[in-house]
Amino acid sequence: MNTHEYDAVVIGGGIAGFIAALKIVDAGYKTAVISRGDPVCCLSTGCIDVLSNSDNPLKAIKDLSEDHPYQIVGKKGVTEALEYFIEIMKETALPYRGEVKKNRGILTPVGTIKKTCLVPETMKNAIGDNEEPIHVISFKGIKDFYPSYITSRISNSGFSVFDAKSVTTLGIAGRFEDRDFLRSFISWAQDLDIPHVKIALPAVLGLNEPLKIMKELSLRTNKEIFEIPTLPPSIPGMRLFRALKSALEVRGGHIYWGKPVSSVERQGSRVEAITLATSGKPSRVCGRSFILATGSFVSGGLFALRDSVRETVFDLPVFVPGHRKDWFNNNFFTQGHEIEKAGVLIDPSFRPKDSNLENLFVCGSIIAHSEIMKNQCGHGIAIATGAAAAMKCIKELS
Ligand SMILES: Cc1cc2nc3c(=O)[nH]c(=O)nc-3n(C[C@H](O)[C@H](O)[C@H](O)COP(=O)(O)OP(=O)(O)OC[C@H]3O[C@@H](n4cnc5c(N)ncnc54)[C@H](O)[C@@H]3O)c2cc1C
Repeated sequence: MNTHEYDAVVIGGGIAGFIAALKIVDAGYKTAVISRGDPVCCLSTGCIDVLSNSDNPLKAIKDLSEDHPYQIVGKKGVTEALEYFIEIMKETALPYRGEVKKNRGILTPVGTIKKTCLVPETMKNAIGDNEEPIHVISFKGIKDFYPSYITSRISNSGFSVFDAKSVTTLGIAGRFEDRDFLRSFISWAQDLDIPHVKIALPAVLGLNEPLKIMKELSLRTNKEIFEIPTLPPSIPGMRLFRALKSALEVRGGHIYWGKPVSSVERQGSRVEAITLATSGKPSRVCGRSFILATGSFVSGGLFALRDSVRETVFDLPVFVPGHRKDWFNNNFFTQGHEIEKAGVLIDPSFRPKDSNLENLFVCGSIIAHSEIMKNQCGHGIAIATGAAAAMKCIKELS
């Protein structure tokens, strides 16, 4: 069996895991991220919801239950974590805009306005209400994007449709990476003679350098351009994941992708190593500290059994809101579904409560009482708790 040694081992390659790993690498420690597969952020808008039900997310933290992870991180911690995220993203091809004290509106594919906190630069020109007329450019046959829904909600708006010879967002984004395609698209858009100041497109302006493509399009058409996030699979979500992954690689962090943890070695109150399930020789990864960032039910960090919920790597105690018959609801996407409260309880040092493991820290959507759908705080929790758990881990390592 191959053995690899690190200061810190992060299990789970979602936003929480990557933010934690970046912080620890920045503090000078040898760090690895281990992940079974792509994270939930690939399905998301790519926008960072902190508390999207309010106008001022920072102010709204005080109204959350006292068990909510933001209360453990604190307002200062949440602010610093989001600032850290913005700094990281500045180094990538995907800078972000926004501030934690103010939510902004972005347009959705059905013409409604969604509140969020930080947005990729390609969405910064988005109209925040339905007052400003726009021109929507759509693509022939594209799925789950409805320009007529959008323009019917905004007076004096219009739309045009381009044939990109692909009907998927991923396929069209791939075509935008090609210079000849971009040139022919720009020349078509110039000929439209659009009267509006702003042009909106589904988020398909390439996977790697969307901002560069957007700027070129803006320059050549003399219009303000913005992207509208689409339904999953979402290009802005994939860009976000790829940007964080490559930021870690650039800093020298190690990544083991497509490999779930198959077993854990403990020595008294310490985790010594984990073994990765691989198709060939299994790998043993040792660490001085470990961070658990395996996500909630969607990513398999939590698994619901008939009468309980299991944490799938360390078998940590899990908080469940009563007996199944008390929380069961056929509609998982009901806002405020009780099972959303389930998760690993943490103490103020981000260690799992009711467990004696002293070198294990927990972050992200696996933490109990996050209630991500109810509070609309998905990526916000991942970033804030990822940074906070990393700080505690760094203290332990030093
Ligand atoms: C459809 C959808 C849309 C969303 N849209 C938004 C949005 O627009 N804005 C927003 O802010 N939030 C959004 N959210 C919520 C947000 O995406 C998540 O809350 C957040 O990304 C969770 O991040 P995480 O790092 O905690 O976990 P995850 O992203 O779930 O990552 C966990 C990682 O751990 C890995 N893993 C699990 N088990 C193991 C194991 N045993 N061994 C190794 N690796 C393992 C998984 O493969 C995965 O990569 C959305 C959620 C969904 C489902």
